[in-house]
Amino acid sequence: MDNCIFCKISQKEIPSHTVYEDDVVYAFLDISQVTPGHTLVIPKKHVMDIFDFDDALAADVFARIPKIAQAIEDAFPAIEGLNIVNNNKALAYQSVFHSHIHLIPRYSKEDDFSMHFGDHTADYTTEKLADIADKIRKQVR
Ligand code: 5GP
Ligand code: ZN
Repeated sequence: MDNCIFCKISQKEIPSHTVYEDDVVYAFLDISQVTPGHTLVIPKKHVMDIFDFDDALAADVFARIPKIAQAIEDAFPAIEGLNIVNNNKALAYQSVFHSHIHLIPRYSKEDDFSMHFGDHTADYTTEKLADIADKIRKQVR
């Protein structure tokens, strides 16, 4: 797609540090290196976000994640954990609108990375949860 920085990166029109590549995905170092080894995995096909994937592309792309994660872990024996993050749309912190999966190695609690999961357990009765699950279940195609 014209004017997409990640299409240009996967087509080697813009340089990047390749971690892995095949016919389906391109994996390269995120320029920001939140932690050493921070990698982005992108489908070579331009899709904007998770809502743009079909089943076949999702199967192909997500099947590659464990082996790339494994390679990162093997390359950096000090790794103690790995966050896999996929931001979808601006509100959810997506800033490049070619879908990408962040693999963020974790070395210690002092890493420059955090996630906050608010705990609202007390606000949800069983009935409320059943209603929410029901709404979603009815939409699964
Ligand atoms: P998002 O905020 O959309 O989830 O993540 C986009 C990521 O792309 C950011 O972490 C940012 O550092 C990275 N990024 C943006 N432009 C470039 C670039 O030109 N090269 C590389 N390697 N990474 C980029
Ligand atoms: Zn693109």
